[in-house]
Amino acid sequence: MTWRRDTPLCVGEPLRPADAPQRATDPPPAAQPNATDVAIVGAGVIGLSIAWRLAAAGLAVTVFDRGDAGASLAATGMLAAATELEPGGADLLALALESRSLWPRYRAELESEAGTDIDYRREGILTVALGRDEVDRLKFRHDLQARAGLVTHWLDGPRVRAMEPALRPSASAGIYCADDHQVDPRCLVPALRRALAARGGRLMENLPVLSLDIAGGRVGGVVTPQGLCRAPIVIVANGAWACEILGDALPVPVRPLKGQALALRSTARTGTPAHVVWTEQVHLAPKAGGRLIVGATVEECGFDRTVTAGGVFALLEGARRAFPCIEDMEIEAVWTGFRPTSDDDAPILGATGIAGLVLATGHHRNGILLAPVTAQAIHDLVVGGAMSGASAGFGLGRFAGSGPRKGASNSVERGARLPPQEEPHAAQYQR
Ligand SMILES: Cc1cc2nc3c(=O)[nH]c(=O)nc-3n(C[C@H](O)[C@H](O)[C@H](O)COP(=O)(O)OP(=O)(O)OC[C@H]3O[C@@H](n4cnc5c(N)ncnc54)[C@H](O)[C@@H]3O)c2cc1C
Repeated sequence: MTWRRDTPLCVGEPLRPADAPQRATDPPPAAQPNATDVAIVGAGVIGLSIAWRLAAAGLAVTVFDRGDAGASLAATGMLAAATELEPGGADLLALALESRSLWPRYRAELESEAGTDIDYRREGILTVALGRDEVDRLKFRHDLQARAGLVTHWLDGPRVRAMEPALRPSASAGIYCADDHQVDPRCLVPALRRALAARGGRLMENLPVLSLDIAGGRVGGVVTPQGLCRAPIVIVANGAWACEILGDALPVPVRPLKGQALALRSTARTGTPAHVVWTEQVHLAPKAGGRLIVGATVEECGFDRTVTAGGVFALLEGARRAFPCIEDMEIEAVWTGFRPTSDDDAPILGATGIAGLVLATGHHRNGILLAPVTAQAIHDLVVGGAMSGASAGFGLGRFAGSGPRKGASNSVERGARLPPQEEPHAAQYQR
């Protein structure tokens, strides 16, 4: 899979797969059906995974996408269930581990049905402390993982540097998680589109859903510029834009959380990390063809797609602090994406008080990881009437009566700054 690069440096929107339609010449949308069994708003990794699963179950599925550069193509693609664990994250960990365990089968079926490779890589994730002062925080993270029963390995400085010889010599400890893998979202999204088509699902590209048809406490379909498409089940999977489509009909605590990321091109001379490497500032993920993704900032600034000097500086500075060799790598692209982030940083899945209306949003920084379990949960709900397993606890109802929204200010959180805290805390990783 190659990525499109029309200009010497791609800035702003995520790199798009080579077979994606050119934006300037996007064809007009095809004619939508008058009716469908299931209408899905949004063709990111979440909407497409659900659609693929429901189409495989024999339902007539229509996905509507208006062509915004969604988070899915901006993502690094880490399946970091264990590495991501935060204090208080036991419920989300259960969901993440369930999804991680589904990934091998999801991947095998997807690659087989799509006929393409999604660059699934098993090199594992190495989280490193760059200097003595970071070791305590890393130790706290490792203890947290051990208490949760996760299999991760503590490494001293020499062992870390043996695994990644190009690391700065000050690298003084690490945690290695062999079970956290990665994929390339720029291969994953096109594969999902193909697999959906192979199952007879419809994708209405460049066709926005303007509103939902809701009357008498139930949903009747979606309204687009072509008119009403009737559907007894409508699944809202449009990521950070969920509030826009739901409006006052169903307030959901989801907001965009901007992330800037960039792609470097390594060469035989520069070398590249052999694993996904996390530091307190950045993560670096090697991909096929010598590409190295460096991510990502975390910024509360609404839908502002600007690539900023401060953001790029933080990424490059963080990457160079770990791997001085990045200085000689070409910068291929820099971009922004909007994580769909809920008030508790976990997804919102399942039925609502409006009959037929289903939510699958709020996947924050884990939407790639959580795609298989989300698709499974929504399939079980639509086909079997209920979600099972860890997903059952992630409905909208958990926010009932909760206080003001977190992060509702316009403040910008960027860089590796750690908030003052009383005990060593897992670092504020940028994802
Ligand atoms: C920089 C960055 C790095 C990340 N890294 C990782 C990672 O390593 N691992 C991981 O698991 N997750 C990662 N994430 C998070 C992950 O990308 C998201 O959680 C996930 O992509 C969300 O997918 P989605 O399908 O819900 O939304 P999106 O991918 O944003 O898709 C939403 C779609 O809805 C469409 N849409 C919006 N409104 C309408 C409308 N009215 N009508 C029709 N269509 C509409 C848009 O066009 C868009 O295509 C990262 C995110 C960012 C920003």
